[in-house]
Amino acid sequence: MSEFKTLRGMRDFLPEDARTMIYVEDVARKVARLYGYKEIITPVVESYELLAAKAGDEVRSRMFAFRDLGGRHVALRPEFTASVARLVATTLRNEPKPFRLFCMGSAYRYDEPQRGRYREFWQSDYELVGSSRPEADAEIIMLTDSLMQGAGLKKFTMKVGHVGVIRGILTQERIGEKQQSAIMQLMDKKQYDDAFKLVKNARASEKCLTVLRQLVECSSNDISKMLSRMEKLVENYEKSVAAVENLRQILELVSQSGCKIDATVDAGFARGLEYYTGMIFEPYVPHLDIALGGGGRYDRLVELFGGESTPAVGVAHGIDRIALGMQLKKTALKVEKEKTVMVIPIKEELRSEALKISRMLRDAGVLVEVEVMGRKMAKALEDADRRKMDYAIIVGERELKEGTVVIRDLAKRQQNTVKIDKMADEIR
Ligand code: AMP
Repeated sequence: MSEFKTLRGMRDFLPEDARTMIYVEDVARKVARLYGYKEIITPVVESYELLAAKAGDEVRSRMFAFRDLGGRHVALRPEFTASVARLVATTLRNEPKPFRLFCMGSAYRYDEPQRGRYREFWQSDYELVGSSRPEADAEIIMLTDSLMQGAGLKKFTMKVGHVGVIRGILTQERIGEKQQSAIMQLMDKKQYDDAFKLVKNARASEKCLTVLRQLVECSSNDISKMLSRMEKLVENYEKSVAAVENLRQILELVSQSGCKIDATVDAGFARGLEYYTGMIFEPYVPHLDIALGGGGRYDRLVELFGGESTPAVGVAHGIDRIALGMQLKKTALKVEKEKTVMVIPIKEELRSEALKISRMLRDAGVLVEVEVMGRKMAKALEDADRRKMDYAIIVGERELKEGTVVIRDLAKRQQNTVKIDKMADEIR
């Protein structure tokens, strides 16, 4: 039989890498708690129809979709928002607004594997449901800032835009929604010529094309200058003017809160997923040219799944990409090294005593491994050393009779005899 390997785009995380992932997850959970987002758990497998409904062509075409044994058309989730919208439209229908939900777990996309792009990846997802106000949008940006700071990625930039600016123009030019989504997706991929061709084919005015051409070239980190320029460009498109004003309010609220993010407003920014209706953003770090997360406002998604019209804003962060960002920046994990102990019975007959001692230590909160290879003492100590354990507890017959064990400090190579009821204190 040939040697088994992981599938393309799928990874094993050995302890070192798993540790970084878990660290980022811990930071994400802490942020959720601090901001009042309650964690929920949704299924990895959902109906294809639900997941595909508003994912956008790009994500839809890359879903792990299949028929289950019952003949249902299902898929592995490519993200969390559809599942959350399903819940909001059904079980949580009558929940008092606003409510804040947090989910974390794996997601699946048949993407072309490369650095930071995998077929199985992890997201932390925050959704603020029920508010259409700019302070809700501001909160989602601030929360992303907290997560990035918590992961030690202090020098990140935020690319910000507003779907309403371009959609406003296209709507006023009487271009249908489906066409709009196709145009936005081309813009998202910076295929502007193709996007403009579609606009032209939809019989938009010359003026519209001129405005769009100027808009997509607009990008600056001088926020107020940029917003004024955008406002001027779209002055004949009422909805677009309102969108720019909305973006201004959101960014002002973020800055007035004292949250100092380095933002770049990009007028041609569209994001891949179809369901966004308002502000959108993506955080980036200098040494990685892929987004570490993506978020924005989606006011019509819940209604699409049969719920009442419910405004919402949310963000999904790529745990893998944040971990990668930390590794590239060599950010040290802030983990306290806890003392570890290896319990070694002097002879086979004392196995049960060793297990008993290990239970007592764990009950006292000490991290314990037990010698399970039947090694002689010298070899067992050597092994504990190699595993970088701090102490060995040697369980011997004579000591047990006196209610004691031997504790050996493996680094100092010193040992002494202590009462069993004092051993946990001794180690701490
Ligand atoms: P999206 O809403 O599609 O922009 O996804 C949100 C975030 O999930 C992205 O910014 C990435 O951090 C992460 N993500 C999406 N696709 C992948 C992938 N194939 N591999 C790793 N992370 C991903």
